[in-house]
Formats: sequence, structure tokens, C-alpha cells
Amino acid sequence: MNKEKIKVNNNSFLVIKPNTCSICKCGIDPKTINKFIYKYNDINRIIVTYQCPICDDLIFAFYEIGSDSYYETINDEILHPFRVIGNNQTKNFSDEIKEVSKRFVDIYNDTYIAEQAGCKEIIGVGYRRAFEFLIKDFAIKYNPNDAEKISNMTLSQCVNCYSPDEETKQLLLKASWIGNDFAHYKNKHKDIKLDDLKQLIMLSLGSIESYIKKKNYICNIEKSIRKYAFNQISILHLGKSNPNGFISSDGLSQVAFYKISCNIMIQ
Ligand SMILES: [Zn+2]
Repeated sequence: MNKEKIKVNNNSFLVIKPNTCSICKCGIDPKTINKFIYKYNDINRIIVTYQCPICDDLIFAFYEIGSDSYYETINDEILHPFRVIGNNQTKNFSDEIKEVSKRFVDIYNDTYIAEQAGCKEIIGVGYRRAFEFLIKDFAIKYNPNDAEKISNMTLSQCVNCYSPDEETKQLLLKASWIGNDFAHYKNKHKDIKLDDLKQLIMLSLGSIESYIKKKNYICNIEKSIRKYAFNQISILHLGKSNPNGFISSDGLSQVAFYKISCNIMIQ
């Protein structure tokens, strides 16, 4: 996290600089070009203009400093940008993930934008929250009758009860434990960094996505097989039925044909 001391109207502030260029998307330590205060709805804001050392383009970061009476009495206040113009890089997720949990996608991307703005202290909590929505929405998708129960469970309980297989369960549990470290006062895993949490979330995402794709694929194949079988039986039924009786040429009664057709349809 790059901090820089700036002076505006005889007050000094420690601003957290954006760590990603909104234009070229590179990780950067931008150069400060200019800064000024303006008032919006009686709240003062500082706009700092930065220049990217990679692509030379300009980035504008907005910091809020409160009312006149507040900011004129403080010095060296640490400010995080609440907006960086153009810095709206987001992650694109597969249709399977979007369909399972839109909240996951929204929370993940809000956090991702906060990360690009340099807000490192809060993003672990954001990614952990996104992960919880993903896991619970995934569990509810395949167990809709347990929706209320799942929403009241802890994340670890949900993982223990509703993981699709043992390997995925172990992965999701690790992501849950590490995610909790970013939400609580005391860290249990001191060597674990934010990148580890992000990596575990991405691996979990891959497992869930793969499971959904397999389920959807198998479901589509089964539908296709049923449709084909039904068509074949219908053709057989129409072609071989004996207009003078109830017995087809291969010995099956028309009643039997109907039963087979119906069984295939309802399976
Ligand atoms: Zn750049």
C-alpha cells in the first residue's frame, strides 16, 4: 500500500495511492501531479491527479475529508480513495457462476475495485463475504428445500453438509478457515496472505464451476437420450402395431409400448 503525504489548504493528509493503473491495468506506484479541494453537499473532497509511470496517462482519485470544521483541525489523517475514475476493472465470471450467485459476482467485484484503489485493510473481509454467498447459494441451488437452514448455518457447517465430494469439501474448508482470519481480530494463520485467500477462492470457484458443468452436461445428455428413445418407441409403436389386434409383430402388446414410453418420459 503506497502512502503519500500531501498538503492542501495548510492541512496535511496521508493519502493511499491507487496501486493499479485504470488505463493500462498495470500494478504501479503513480506520480502525484496535482491536488485540490472541492465541496460536494457540504462535504469536502480532495481530488488528486496521478500519472501512471508505465503508460503516462492520468488517473483521478477522490478522497473525502468531511466538513470545514472537521478537516481544518486535523493533520496527517490517513485517507483512502472512495473513487478512482476509470478504475472499474472487474472480473468476468462464467455463466454457471453468474447463474448460481449474482451476489457473489457483485461482492467480489466491489471488493476487487476496492483492492485496485489500495484499500487493503478491508478487502480480505470482502472476499470472504463473497465466498460465503457463493457457497450458500450453490448449496441452495441443489437443495432448495433447505434454503432457510442453509442461510442460518455457519460457512464451515454449510461446507461440511453440502460439499459435492470430499476433495472439494477439503478445499472449501481451507478457504473458509483462511477467510475467517480476515474477518476476526485474532489471526490464526499468520503466514497466510491475502493472495492465498484469493487463490483458494479461485480454486473453489473452479471446482464448483466444474461440478455445475458436469451436472448440466449429464442432464442435457439424459434429456437427449430420453427424447431419442421416446421417438424410437413411438416409431416402433406406430409402425408395428397390428391394426387387427393388440399384439405388435415383435410380440409386445401396445399396452407394453405405452408403458415403456411413459416410463422413459417420467424418469
Ligand atoms: Zn498505465
